[in-house]
Amino acid sequence: MRIFLIGAPGSGKGTQARLLSKRYHLIKISIGEILRELIHNKTSPEKKIKNLINKGKLVSDKTIIRIVKNRISQKDCMSGFILDGFPRTIGQAKIISKNEISVDYIFELKIPTKIIIERILKRKKDSLTPKKTYSLKNENLPHANNNFFFRKDDDEVIIKKRLQEYKKFTQPLKTYWNKNFKNKKIQFFEIDGTQTILNVYKDIKIILEKKT
Ligand code: AMP
Repeated sequence: MRIFLIGAPGSGKGTQARLLSKRYHLIKISIGEILRELIHNKTSPEKKIKNLINKGKLVSDKTIIRIVKNRISQKDCMSGFILDGFPRTIGQAKIISKNEISVDYIFELKIPTKIIIERILKRKKDSLTPKKTYSLKNENLPHANNNFFFRKDDDEVIIKKRLQEYKKFTQPLKTYWNKNFKNKKIQFFEIDGTQTILNVYKDIKIILEKKT
C-alpha cells in the first residue's frame, strides 16, 4: 500500500504518518525530514535548500522528485510506504499522472489557517528525539529539560509564507486531481484535520479498511 499525506504545515501529517506506519507496518518517509537531514550535512547545493526552507518557500520540483524517486526505490519501500509531504505542486502531481511514481491513496488533511498558526506556534521539538514533534499542551514530554527547540521555519512570519505557498501551489491539487485522475485507481480523500488526532486517524483507517 502506498499512501501519500498532504496538508498545510501543522495539519498533523507527521503525526498521522507515524500512527499509520505503525498500524500497517509501512515505512514512513517525510520529505521535510529528508531535506532537514541534507541541510544538516551542509554541502553546497543544500545551502540553496536551507535558504528556501528558512524563507518558508517550497524547494524545486526537480530536487523533490529526485529525492522521492531515490527514496522510494530503496528496498525497505518495496511492500509500500507512507509519504508525508508529497505531492505539493502540480509539477509533482504530474509525475504521478505520468506513472513515474505510483500511489494508491492520497489524503489531504484540511484545517483552517487560524488553527494552523496556533498549532505551529505551540509546536516544539525535542532535540534528543528530533523526529518527534510535541505540543506545549503535552505534559508528558519525555525530557523535562532545556533540550526543546522550535523548528526555524516555525516562526510566525515564515509560517505565514509557508501557508501562502500551500494556498498557491498545493491547494489547486484537488482540482487537478478531479480533472486528471477520475479514471485512475488512485483515490484522493479530504479529511477534517481539526478533529482529535485519534479521530483523524480513525477516519483514514475506515477508508483504508473499507471493503470494496
Ligand atoms: P514539512 O516538514 O513537511 O513542513 O516541510 C518543510 C519544508 O520542506 C517545506 O516548507 C518546504 O520548504 C520543503 N518541502 C517539503 N516537502 C516539499 C515538497 N513536496 N515540495 C517542495 N518543498 C517541500
